[in-house]
Amino acid sequence: MPSPLTCARCHLRQDLCLCEQAPSLSGDCEPLSLILLTHSLEIEKHTNTGRLLEACLSECCLWLWQRTEFERQWAEFTRSSSRVPVLLFPESNSRSENALTVSNMPQSPPPLEQITFVLIDATWQQARKMLRQSPSLRDCQRLSLQSSAPSRYHLRKHQQQGNLSTVETGCELLKWLGLERDAELIERYFGRFLQHSEANRSGYDLKGN
Ligand SMILES: [Zn+2]
Repeated sequence: MPSPLTCARCHLRQDLCLCEQAPSLSGDCEPLSLILLTHSLEIEKHTNTGRLLEACLSECCLWLWQRTEFERQWAEFTRSSSRVPVLLFPESNSRSENALTVSNMPQSPPPLEQITFVLIDATWQQARKMLRQSPSLRDCQRLSLQSSAPSRYHLRKHQQQGNLSTVETGCELLKWLGLERDAELIERYFGRFLQHSEANRSGYDLKGN
């Protein structure tokens, strides 16, 4: 149960909450449609970074992934949307994961209005399981993005080196789409989130405050 002093949305201490401080992105981001497919264990974690994308992007919706419900929700989505779904998958360091790095997208970005990007918001292990248990996702077009810089995310033990967090993957997508300026704004917001999460974990106030 979240304490009364904890934000119900991001689970950070109220004085550290950044929910209302997301940057305003340019109008070029408006047609960008993104589905965050979030593992149920992520929802309660204050270290989750998918919600930063949700706070910044106007067309970002969070789906709580559940095995059977997902297939129904996906069928409904593909029936009602004219956009082509594209599963975004960060390039893994592990070469044995080559099934996850197939890319059959064109080199240059297609019109944003024609696509809904899908991003799995989970640990690497959970993501693999979600993919295995979601037949519809396996047939989906995939886009793998090479990261332009190492991950700055350091809030969890046992995270795999080199794997980008959800928000960093979102930023790589924006850069690929030519929206570097907006990616920078989100990266700055992410930087503040890292500081606030550290303060939350240590129980201290923010440094310099
Ligand atoms: Zn909050």
